[in-house]
Amino acid sequence: MSGGTLEAFGGCYCGAVRYALSSHRGTGICYCRNCRKAVGVHAVAWVETSREAVTILHGFPARFNAPNGAVWSFCSQCGSTLFWEPAERSGDLAVTTGTLDEPGAFAPEQLSWVADCLPWDRPLPLGLQQSSATRRRAAGNAR
Ligand SMILES: [Zn+2]
Ligand SMILES: [Zn+2]
Repeated sequence: MSGGTLEAFGGCYCGAVRYALSSHRGTGICYCRNCRKAVGVHAVAWVETSREAVTILHGFPARFNAPNGAVWSFCSQCGSTLFWEPAERSGDLAVTTGTLDEPGAFAPEQLSWVADCLPWDRPLPLGLQQSSATRRRAAGNAR
């Protein structure tokens, strides 16, 4: 963590893993199949940040290397999904909003993979706008 600033704290369900977040770049909800499988819910809220902005305070998250190259970090004791890192190892990292101590402070700003939203879910909650990138991905339904 650089700069010594702190924005938020979070951790897994059982408390074995705790982390601090110093800053973030954006927030969103993802409807893709990978998030669905990895986290076990129909849609996943994320806080987008960088690896440098997250400090593990205690615990050792386990890592799962997904077939598409992404890396998922989770608590090996309680199973909470904590972080996602892209296949290209860009230094980007996303934190599951639900593991933050005060997730209400991180309202989603955009939606991703809307085309994969399940038929019984609502893909566009009020007040949310799709980014142009999200619209392109949703329209193309590419993966
Ligand atoms: Zn845990
Ligand atoms: Zn996703």
